[in-house]
Amino acid sequence: MQGLGLFIVFLPQRRGDAAPLRLRVSAVNCICCLFPHLLISTFPHFSRTSVSFSPIFLLDLPHNYYHMQFQLSEEHLMIQKAARDFANTECLPGVIERDEHQKFPKEQIMKLAELGFMGMMVSPDYGGSGMDTVSYVLAMEEISKVDASVSVCMSVNNSLVSWGLEAFGNEEQKKKYLTPLAQGQKDGELYIGAFLLSEPEAGSDATSQRTTAEDKGDYYLLNGIKNWITNGSSASVYLVMAQTDVAKGPKGINVFIVEKAWPGVTVGAKENKLGIRGSDTHSISFTDVKVPKENRIGADGFGFTFAMKTLSGGRIGIASQALGIASGAYERALAYSKQRKAFGKEIMHHQAIQFKLADMATRIEASRLLCLKAAWEKDNGIDYTLSSSMAKVYASETAMWVSTEAVQVHGGYGYVKEFHVERLMRDAKITQIYEGTSEVQRIVISRAILK
Ligand SMILES: Cc1cc2nc3c(=O)[nH]c(=O)nc-3n(C[C@H](O)[C@H](O)[C@H](O)COP(=O)(O)OP(=O)(O)OC[C@H]3O[C@@H](n4cnc5c(N)ncnc54)[C@H](O)[C@@H]3O)c2cc1C
Repeated sequence: MQGLGLFIVFLPQRRGDAAPLRLRVSAVNCICCLFPHLLISTFPHFSRTSVSFSPIFLLDLPHNYYHMQFQLSEEHLMIQKAARDFANTECLPGVIERDEHQKFPKEQIMKLAELGFMGMMVSPDYGGSGMDTVSYVLAMEEISKVDASVSVCMSVNNSLVSWGLEAFGNEEQKKKYLTPLAQGQKDGELYIGAFLLSEPEAGSDATSQRTTAEDKGDYYLLNGIKNWITNGSSASVYLVMAQTDVAKGPKGINVFIVEKAWPGVTVGAKENKLGIRGSDTHSISFTDVKVPKENRIGADGFGFTFAMKTLSGGRIGIASQALGIASGAYERALAYSKQRKAFGKEIMHHQAIQFKLADMATRIEASRLLCLKAAWEKDNGIDYTLSSSMAKVYASETAMWVSTEAVQVHGGYGYVKEFHVERLMRDAKITQIYEGTSEVQRIVISRAILK
């Protein structure tokens, strides 16, 4: 039998039930190809707001192929607009000065928290907004177009700290720490988190942890130093990876919730960086810090797995940040090309500029699709390790290339701060380094495709 017909399937739109629903609809398709009237009469309760137009064939095609959709829902469009408006009204003013003076965007983060963007994917049971990862990608892109120092703080709090705690923390840990973290504030004060994996001798090779947590019965005694910590001085809570049993290698690594205010925690000087200069990056040292036993996350030896799983999702955030930096640079280059004149015409009429813009737009669109696919996989319970690495390596290299070309399109004006593109170019570089360098992403990708 060949393809038999074209039907419309109405899908209910509820977060979390996409996968079982797909199975149900696939089975229904088979029946309804034979008895089309069954489709509507069996499922009259399906919502008419989310419609998937489905060519249905009986043979030779996977049952879920027709679920590919490239349209955002109304909710997604609203979130995207809210993030765009926020970026333009709250982040754009003062962004050049914050970059120049390395000023942490505290006011912006507090307002972002009021919007519910500091715990976007956290369940409302723990003070979060209960949104999906697609919404997070959209918001990250819009905010990163304008200020990547704001978006990195948002990304760490959302995907490294809050997600890790919600996925692997116990009920007490979630109530005590996740709820204020997801709200970005406690008693009216900023309350955010940081993720402490890197050390002076442990970057890409994160298994070489030297920070130790010695089991002392009722508590662990934490000693060591962590490097390059985003939100280092602004965070109230740290998720710290440390070695509890050196002999066990990566299986001897644990992860602990540590409060910055505890005795023995010292915040080092702020790093003077090339880009994302508003974000506060510090080394953090621990000297005989007593960590209560109940602050270990997960079973003994879970720390390295925790870090890897959390970073997989974090990479979707950084890929989206890179996407936003690229889009911001492109939009500025496009606008500039329409008003700057050279040789008697706007530079957009020169083919060399047109081709640059065409390549920028194409690479950005490819990056966006990779980010959204990784997010969609995460939302649908599909392994997203490969897609998040692909999204990160491609979007970050796109951000670097597009922002450099955007400076070129601006000529000399691109080289000064006023036109923003030089800052976007400086900001782009870090997306190729943190949460796994481009080389590390290629290791992850090649392992996955060669196994
Ligand atoms: C601004 C900033 C913010 C950061 N925020 C955080 C944070 O919040 N929390 C945190 O834990 N860390 C953070 N980091 C650390 C960051 O994740 C590391 O810098 C990164 O993982 C690289 O580690 P490294 O700097 O030690 O470089 P190295 O690991 O020493 O790498 C040096 C070079 O060698 C390459 N390389 C290494 N191993 C291989 C290999 N096997 N094959 C091929 N090439 C290889 C790398 O790709 C790189 O090009 C941050 C860093 C910066 C700069």
